[in-house]
Amino acid sequence: MKQQGAWTRWKNAVERKVTWAELWKAEPHRIKFLIQAVYDVLPSPSNLHTWGIAETPACPLCSKRGTLEHILSCCTGALGDGRYRWRHDQVLKTIAEAISTGLEWAKQVRPSKKSIAFVRAGDKPTPVRRTSSAGILMSARDWQVLVDLEHQLKFPSHIVVTTLQPDIVLVSESTKQAVLLELTVPWEDRLEEAFERKLSKYARLVSDCHQAGWRARCFPVEVGCRGFAARSLARAFSTLGIEGERKRRAIRSITERGGRMSTSVGRIQR
Ligand SMILES: [Zn+2]
Repeated sequence: MKQQGAWTRWKNAVERKVTWAELWKAEPHRIKFLIQAVYDVLPSPSNLHTWGIAETPACPLCSKRGTLEHILSCCTGALGDGRYRWRHDQVLKTIAEAISTGLEWAKQVRPSKKSIAFVRAGDKPTPVRRTSSAGILMSARDWQVLVDLEHQLKFPSHIVVTTLQPDIVLVSESTKQAVLLELTVPWEDRLEEAFERKLSKYARLVSDCHQAGWRARCFPVEVGCRGFAARSLARAFSTLGIEGERKRRAIRSITERGGRMSTSVGRIQR
Protein backbone atom coordinates (compact mmCIF):
# COMPACT_ATOMS: atom_id res chain seq x y z
CA MET A 1 0.00 0.00 0.00
CA LYS A 2 2.88 2.37 0.75
CA GLN A 3 4.19 1.89 -2.77
CA GLN A 4 0.90 1.78 -4.66
CA GLY A 5 -0.80 4.50 -2.62
CA ALA A 6 2.07 6.99 -2.81
CA TRP A 7 0.11 9.11 -5.31
CA THR A 8 -2.32 10.09 -2.52
CA ARG A 9 0.44 12.29 -1.11
CA TRP A 10 0.97 14.32 -4.31
CA LYS A 11 -0.39 17.50 -2.78
CA ASN A 12 1.05 19.78 -5.45
CA ALA A 13 0.07 17.89 -8.57
CA VAL A 14 -2.66 19.15 -10.87
CA GLU A 15 -5.44 16.59 -11.02
CA ARG A 16 -5.53 14.82 -14.35
CA LYS A 17 -8.75 13.85 -16.02
CA VAL A 18 -8.54 11.32 -18.78
CA THR A 19 -11.53 11.99 -21.00
CA TRP A 20 -13.34 9.43 -23.13
CA ALA A 21 -12.08 11.21 -26.22
CA GLU A 22 -8.50 10.82 -24.99
CA LEU A 23 -9.08 7.17 -24.14
CA TRP A 24 -10.43 6.47 -27.60
CA LYS A 25 -7.58 8.21 -29.35
CA ALA A 26 -4.74 7.06 -27.10
CA GLU A 27 -2.42 4.25 -27.99
CA PRO A 28 -3.17 1.40 -25.56
CA HIS A 29 0.37 1.23 -24.19
CA ARG A 30 0.22 4.91 -23.22
CA ILE A 31 -2.85 4.43 -21.02
CA LYS A 32 -1.34 1.29 -19.60
CA PHE A 33 1.88 3.12 -18.80
CA LEU A 34 0.03 6.02 -17.16
CA ILE A 35 -2.02 3.82 -14.85
CA GLN A 36 0.74 1.36 -14.03
CA ALA A 37 3.20 4.21 -13.41
CA VAL A 38 0.85 5.95 -10.95
CA TYR A 39 0.38 2.73 -8.97
CA ASP A 40 4.00 1.73 -9.44
CA VAL A 41 3.17 -1.66 -10.92
CA LEU A 42 5.21 -1.35 -14.10
CA PRO A 43 7.66 -4.18 -14.77
CA SER A 44 10.67 -2.35 -13.31
CA PRO A 45 13.63 -4.61 -12.45
CA SER A 46 12.74 -4.23 -8.78
CA ASN A 47 9.08 -5.20 -9.30
CA LEU A 48 10.01 -8.10 -11.58
CA HIS A 49 12.28 -9.36 -8.81
CA THR A 50 9.54 -8.96 -6.18
CA TRP A 51 7.13 -10.89 -8.43
CA GLY A 52 9.66 -13.73 -8.77
CA ILE A 53 10.17 -13.17 -12.52
CA ALA A 54 13.70 -11.72 -12.51
CA GLU A 55 16.68 -13.01 -10.63
CA THR A 56 18.03 -9.61 -9.76
CA PRO A 57 16.40 -6.26 -8.92
CA ALA A 58 19.44 -4.43 -10.29
CA CYS A 59 19.23 -1.62 -12.83
CA PRO A 60 20.94 -2.79 -16.06
CA LEU A 61 22.65 0.58 -16.46
CA CYS A 62 24.18 1.18 -13.04
CA SER A 63 23.35 -1.98 -11.04
CA LYS A 64 21.65 -0.05 -8.23
CA ARG A 65 18.18 -1.21 -7.21
CA GLY A 66 15.99 -0.67 -10.29
CA THR A 67 12.80 0.75 -8.84
CA LEU A 68 10.53 2.79 -11.11
CA GLU A 69 11.69 5.93 -9.31
CA HIS A 70 15.28 4.97 -10.03
CA ILE A 71 14.66 4.22 -13.71
CA LEU A 72 12.63 7.37 -14.39
CA SER A 73 14.51 9.90 -12.31
CA CYS A 74 17.53 8.78 -10.29
CA CYS A 75 19.74 6.57 -12.49
CA THR A 76 23.24 8.00 -12.92
CA GLY A 77 23.64 5.84 -16.04
CA ALA A 78 20.55 7.32 -17.69
CA LEU A 79 21.63 10.78 -16.57
CA GLY A 80 25.06 10.29 -18.13
CA ASP A 81 23.46 9.10 -21.39
CA GLY A 82 21.54 12.37 -21.55
CA ARG A 83 18.15 10.63 -21.40
CA TYR A 84 16.75 12.86 -18.68
CA ARG A 85 18.09 15.94 -20.42
CA TRP A 86 16.41 14.82 -23.65
CA ARG A 87 13.07 14.31 -21.87
CA HIS A 88 13.44 17.67 -20.08
CA ASP A 89 14.07 19.45 -23.39
CA GLN A 90 11.06 17.84 -25.06
CA VAL A 91 8.82 19.05 -22.23
CA LEU A 92 10.52 22.44 -22.32
CA LYS A 93 9.77 22.77 -26.04
CA THR A 94 6.06 22.19 -25.37
CA ILE A 95 6.07 24.84 -22.62
CA ALA A 96 7.85 27.29 -24.93
CA GLU A 97 5.24 26.59 -27.63
CA ALA A 98 2.44 27.30 -25.15
CA ILE A 99 4.07 30.62 -24.21
CA SER A 100 4.51 31.60 -27.86
CA THR A 101 0.85 30.81 -28.51
CA GLY A 102 -0.03 32.89 -25.44
CA LEU A 103 1.99 35.79 -26.83
CA GLU A 104 0.22 35.59 -30.18
CA TRP A 105 -3.10 35.61 -28.41
CA ALA A 106 -2.07 38.56 -26.20
CA LYS A 107 -1.23 40.56 -29.34
CA GLN A 108 -4.63 39.89 -30.88
CA VAL A 109 -6.80 40.68 -27.89
CA ARG A 110 -4.95 43.82 -26.85
CA PRO A 111 -7.68 46.39 -26.30
CA SER A 112 -7.34 49.56 -28.33
CA LYS A 113 -6.48 52.48 -26.13
CA LYS A 114 -9.13 54.95 -25.04
CA SER A 115 -12.00 53.13 -26.66
CA ILE A 116 -15.34 54.67 -25.79
CA ALA A 117 -18.19 52.38 -24.84
CA PHE A 118 -21.40 53.96 -26.09
CA VAL A 119 -24.55 53.12 -24.21
CA ARG A 120 -27.98 53.32 -25.83
CA ALA A 121 -30.46 55.58 -24.01
CA GLY A 122 -32.26 53.59 -21.36
CA ASP A 123 -29.69 50.71 -21.40
CA LYS A 124 -27.45 49.92 -18.51
CA PRO A 125 -23.71 50.05 -19.23
CA THR A 126 -22.14 46.59 -19.46
CA PRO A 127 -19.30 46.14 -16.99
CA VAL A 128 -15.90 46.69 -18.59
CA ARG A 129 -13.78 43.53 -18.73
CA ARG A 130 -10.50 44.24 -17.05
CA THR A 131 -8.18 43.03 -19.77
CA SER A 132 -5.36 45.25 -18.55
CA SER A 133 -4.79 42.98 -15.55
CA ALA A 134 -4.81 39.93 -17.80
CA GLY A 135 -1.27 38.86 -17.14
CA ILE A 136 2.35 39.63 -17.75
CA LEU A 137 2.24 38.84 -21.48
CA MET A 138 -0.25 41.68 -21.97
CA SER A 139 1.95 44.20 -20.14
CA ALA A 140 4.36 44.78 -23.03
CA ARG A 141 4.44 44.54 -26.81
CA ASP A 142 8.05 43.58 -27.31
CA TRP A 143 8.44 40.28 -25.45
CA GLN A 144 11.32 38.18 -26.67
CA VAL A 145 11.39 34.50 -25.74
CA LEU A 146 14.75 32.81 -25.21
CA VAL A 147 14.75 29.05 -24.70
CA ASP A 148 17.63 27.01 -23.32
CA LEU A 149 17.68 23.96 -25.57
CA GLU A 150 20.99 22.07 -25.55
CA HIS A 151 22.49 24.64 -23.18
CA GLN A 152 22.28 27.35 -25.83
CA LEU A 153 20.84 30.11 -23.70
CA LYS A 154 22.96 32.95 -22.44
CA PHE A 155 21.26 35.21 -19.95
CA PRO A 156 21.15 38.74 -21.47
CA SER A 157 24.37 40.28 -20.19
CA HIS A 158 23.09 43.84 -20.47
CA ILE A 159 20.71 42.98 -17.62
CA VAL A 160 23.02 40.96 -15.36
CA VAL A 161 26.16 38.95 -16.01
CA THR A 162 25.63 35.42 -14.70
CA THR A 163 26.63 31.85 -15.43
CA LEU A 164 23.12 30.63 -14.56
CA GLN A 165 21.00 29.38 -17.45
CA PRO A 166 17.29 29.47 -16.72
CA ASP A 167 15.29 27.31 -19.14
CA ILE A 168 13.19 30.13 -20.55
CA VAL A 169 13.81 33.88 -20.32
CA LEU A 170 11.24 36.42 -21.46
CA VAL A 171 12.59 39.91 -21.92
CA SER A 172 10.80 43.17 -22.61
CA GLU A 173 13.32 45.94 -23.24
CA SER A 174 10.75 48.73 -23.39
CA THR A 175 9.23 47.98 -19.98
CA LYS A 176 12.44 46.57 -18.45
CA GLN A 177 10.88 43.30 -17.43
CA ALA A 178 12.43 39.86 -17.28
CA VAL A 179 10.62 36.61 -16.58
CA LEU A 180 12.59 33.46 -15.76
CA LEU A 181 11.08 30.02 -16.08
CA GLU A 182 12.93 27.01 -14.78
CA LEU A 183 11.65 23.52 -15.49
CA THR A 184 12.30 20.37 -13.46
CA VAL A 185 10.98 16.92 -14.40
CA PRO A 186 11.12 15.16 -11.02
CA TRP A 187 9.54 12.06 -9.52
CA GLU A 188 6.02 13.22 -8.57
CA ASP A 189 6.64 12.77 -4.84
CA ARG A 190 9.28 15.50 -5.06
CA LEU A 191 7.45 18.27 -6.94
CA GLU A 192 7.54 20.64 -3.99
CA GLU A 193 11.17 19.94 -3.14
CA ALA A 194 12.19 20.74 -6.73
CA PHE A 195 10.21 23.99 -6.62
CA GLU A 196 11.93 25.19 -3.43
CA ARG A 197 15.36 24.18 -4.70
CA LYS A 198 14.99 26.10 -7.97
CA LEU A 199 13.45 29.12 -6.24
CA SER A 200 16.48 29.51 -4.01
CA LYS A 201 18.87 28.76 -6.89
CA TYR A 202 17.60 31.80 -8.82
CA ALA A 203 16.82 34.14 -5.90
CA ARG A 204 20.16 35.89 -6.18
CA LEU A 205 19.84 36.42 -9.94
CA VAL A 206 16.37 37.90 -9.49
CA SER A 207 17.58 40.33 -6.84
CA ASP A 208 20.56 41.28 -9.04
CA CYS A 209 18.09 42.10 -11.81
CA HIS A 210 16.13 44.30 -9.39
CA GLN A 211 19.34 46.06 -8.43
CA ALA A 212 19.99 46.74 -12.10
CA GLY A 213 16.59 48.38 -12.42
CA TRP A 214 14.72 45.48 -14.00
CA ARG A 215 11.43 44.02 -12.86
CA ALA A 216 12.33 40.35 -12.71
CA ARG A 217 10.33 37.31 -11.63
CA CYS A 218 11.27 33.68 -11.45
CA PHE A 219 8.81 30.83 -11.91
CA PRO A 220 10.12 27.38 -11.11
CA VAL A 221 7.73 24.91 -12.78
CA GLU A 222 7.62 21.15 -12.46
CA VAL A 223 6.23 18.42 -14.64
CA GLY A 224 6.45 15.04 -12.92
CA CYS A 225 8.11 12.28 -14.90
CA ARG A 226 4.90 10.25 -14.95
CA GLY A 227 3.00 13.07 -16.63
CA PHE A 228 1.52 15.11 -13.79
CA ALA A 229 2.03 18.86 -13.80
CA ALA A 230 2.65 20.70 -10.55
CA ARG A 231 0.36 23.51 -9.48
CA SER A 232 3.35 25.82 -9.98
CA LEU A 233 2.96 25.37 -13.76
CA ALA A 234 -0.72 26.29 -13.65
CA ARG A 235 0.10 29.30 -11.47
CA ALA A 236 2.87 30.46 -13.81
CA PHE A 237 0.54 30.26 -16.82
CA SER A 238 -2.14 32.25 -14.97
CA THR A 239 0.33 34.96 -13.98
CA LEU A 240 1.50 35.16 -17.58
CA GLY A 241 -2.11 35.54 -18.69
CA ILE A 242 -2.65 32.07 -20.16
CA GLU A 243 -5.97 31.21 -18.60
CA GLY A 244 -9.07 29.06 -18.87
CA GLU A 245 -9.34 26.64 -21.77
CA ARG A 246 -6.03 27.83 -23.23
CA LYS A 247 -4.30 26.96 -19.97
CA ARG A 248 -5.98 23.57 -19.71
CA ARG A 249 -5.06 22.75 -23.30
CA ALA A 250 -1.44 23.79 -22.74
CA ILE A 251 -1.10 21.73 -19.55
CA ARG A 252 -2.69 18.72 -21.25
CA SER A 253 -0.20 18.76 -24.11
CA ILE A 254 2.72 19.30 -21.71
CA THR A 255 1.81 16.43 -19.39
CA GLU A 256 1.03 14.24 -22.38
CA ARG A 257 4.49 14.96 -23.79
CA GLY A 258 6.15 14.33 -20.40
CA GLY A 259 4.48 10.97 -19.97
CA ARG A 260 5.24 9.89 -23.53
CA MET A 261 8.92 10.78 -23.12
CA SER A 262 9.10 8.75 -19.91
CA THR A 263 7.69 5.73 -21.72
CA SER A 264 10.70 5.98 -23.99
CA VAL A 265 13.19 6.61 -21.19
CA GLY A 266 11.92 3.48 -19.44
CA ARG A 267 11.61 1.33 -22.55
CA ILE A 268 15.11 1.91 -23.83
CA GLN A 269 16.40 0.65 -20.54
CA ARG A 270 14.79 -2.75 -20.48
ZN1 LIG B 1 20.47 2.81 -12.85
